[in-house]
Amino acid sequence: MKTLLLHDTEQDIKTAGEILRNGGLVGIPTETVYGLAANALDGRAVAEIFKAKGRPMDNPLIVHIADIEDIARFSLVSEFPEKARLLAEKFWSGPLTIILPKGSSIPDEVSAGLDTVAIRFPSHPLAQKIIKSAGVPLAAPSANLSGSPSPTTAAHVMNDMDGRINAVVDGGECSVGLESTVLTLASDPPRLLRPGGITAEQLEAVIGKIAIDDAVLNKLRDGEKAASPGMKYKHYAPKARVIMLRGSDSGYINYVNNHKIEAAAALCYDEDMKSLTLKAFSLGKRGDYSSQAHRLFSSLRAIDRDESVKLVYARCPSPKGVGMAVYNRLIRAAGFEVIDLEKL
Ligand code: AMP
Ligand code: MG
Repeated sequence: MKTLLLHDTEQDIKTAGEILRNGGLVGIPTETVYGLAANALDGRAVAEIFKAKGRPMDNPLIVHIADIEDIARFSLVSEFPEKARLLAEKFWSGPLTIILPKGSSIPDEVSAGLDTVAIRFPSHPLAQKIIKSAGVPLAAPSANLSGSPSPTTAAHVMNDMDGRINAVVDGGECSVGLESTVLTLASDPPRLLRPGGITAEQLEAVIGKIAIDDAVLNKLRDGEKAASPGMKYKHYAPKARVIMLRGSDSGYINYVNNHKIEAAAALCYDEDMKSLTLKAFSLGKRGDYSSQAHRLFSSLRAIDRDESVKLVYARCPSPKGVGMAVYNRLIRAAGFEVIDLEKL
């Protein structure tokens, strides 16, 4: 299949909408990462997403809307509680996904057989235009091959999906750079399943106490069931082995410089670069969690393109605020391999 590269023009948006309405797959920009979209109401079209990505069928998808009214218009949920209304008012459109009891129109392919559905209203103007052009809600996971880092540019999507999907719409670089925050309202108290650009503190300021799922910061124990099926898979990983190093600035710099081997590289704060004597990739600015979110996947992909790199010494980001999302992705990229430099 030839994959069309489309742009932000009236004609191209119309083309993307037609492809989607006819059951095709289109890579679309959002403010979080690029999504791989299909008509959310068409189980056959949605099944193609899993094939294109090599995604396990038990990992449900997020349904993207371009108007709050779409939820009622398309019977996407069976209940829209007060807390959902408060969150939608405050954080939509934006990088928050809310999980609710699913409505009658949601095919099993979208919810992976669960009785809940994940809904998000993206803020990216081009994403909204494409959803409106399609005229239906769009189911879309990240537009990467399953397991590899999420795409934050159209070139990343092409790299993984060229020949596997009908089109990609180029909307430039994603501003947030990490996937949305996922909160389920199907449990009491509401539970954070995946941290993202909207922080736990911001959510609590609107709806009061929330629980943080164990799998957000820790490895699932053998046999433990994931509340969010996506959390159980190895994720976001470049081909090289990644080791996360927890410790101070000087501890990190000393360890890395002393364990230099030819195939090793650093994934470090911009401020560390001048003190390191090996190849280094940016994890953004120290203490600036949004810059780290923005850089992370792009740097993991740059590491993948550099075939000489077989081992990556990554800084351990602070799990505060948006840092929790960066930590959550990077520890999975490292397969939970962490060295505590203070304990050496
Ligand atoms: P992706 O779009 O690739 O970032 O994946 C969507 C994420 O949302 C995955 O981690 C899913 O496990 C999670 N998710 C989607 N729907 C549900 C649901 N109904 N219940 C729990 N988690 C969900
Ligand atoms: Mg994904």
